[in-house]
Amino acid sequence: MKVSIIGAGNVGATAAMKIASEGFAKELVLLDVKEGVAEGKAMDIMQSLMMNDSMTIVTGTTGDYSKTANSDIIIITSGVPRKPGMTREELVGVNSKVMTMVLDGAVKYSPNAIFIVVSNPMDTMTQMVVNYLGIENANRVIGMGGALDSARFKYNIFMKVREKVSSINPWNIQDCWVIGGHGDTTMIPLVNKVIVNFQPLSYYLTKDEINEVVEATMKGGATLTKMLGTSAWEAPAQGITEIVKSIVCNNWNTIPSSVYHPELGLCIGDLVTIHSTGWEYKYDYTDENKSYMKEYEDKFNASVEAIRKVNEALS
Ligand code: NAD
Repeated sequence: MKVSIIGAGNVGATAAMKIASEGFAKELVLLDVKEGVAEGKAMDIMQSLMMNDSMTIVTGTTGDYSKTANSDIIIITSGVPRKPGMTREELVGVNSKVMTMVLDGAVKYSPNAIFIVVSNPMDTMTQMVVNYLGIENANRVIGMGGALDSARFKYNIFMKVREKVSSINPWNIQDCWVIGGHGDTTMIPLVNKVIVNFQPLSYYLTKDEINEVVEATMKGGATLTKMLGTSAWEAPAQGITEIVKSIVCNNWNTIPSSVYHPELGLCIGDLVTIHSTGWEYKYDYTDENKSYMKEYEDKFNASVEAIRKVNEALS
């Protein structure tokens, strides 16, 4: 298995460290435009691997895409992160230019790879990759955002329930899914799906407390950006690693991700399962399981329209 990460900044390098430590890849290539940065990060990671059992060989390159040739997975973490006070959507101009350059290089050498898209605004950047590869290849394009937002949702639930039930641990909290757009106002935490100790969330939290959890989740990225001065990287890198794990191990894990919806003509977060050749919907559209979506239909439609507006910047 060969994995390449384009963009060796905070998220890319941290994901490289996590993926290499797990030994998921035989070869991992980091590529960046900043002279020497990818090479330096690769060397630092390799030196840390001397202290564990991983056999992954990590290398770095400044802009030479031939080094990424025949990758099974390409992870795109290149571009600009937001600064405090910015929305992810404001990055569309600068990051779509970066994405065009990245796709020209990466697709040329690894036309059959599975693409994991991280750069923001993530749903729109994922759409760019689908447009580039063709809709017929959409099942190997996965936007990472729902994994992160769902982890933040679970974190906020955990911290709130813990105030009341000190024995709670994250394993007792299940099905914390966030779908919709990966934006402060477009993400949709599926409150009614959450199970805490076999009970619905409302068993433990009041309506106001649930609203607080939802708000903290939706503003989760902005809160960290304000604290760190740039966007977060540890949990995003873990989200990437979980997707890579599900691909490499053919786990069919449920990981909310931004994927192409043919009936909408765009990429938006939904519940999908991830396996060795890409993703599939967890629920078929005709499946009555999908009826839970009815409760969130208005929010989902609003999220679709918001993404459509951002996507207009591409045309
Ligand atoms: P960063 O600034 O630390 O790293 C970005 C790297 O991309 C830099 O090293 C830069 O040199 C490189 N780069 C720029 N142009 C490039 C090009 N043309 N080719 C190759 N490399 C190039 O930023 P970060 O914190 O790692 O964030 C990276 C991106 O991921 C941002 O767009 C950010 O908004 C996004 N992000 C997404 C999520 C998510 O959940 N989807 C989470 C966190 C960050």
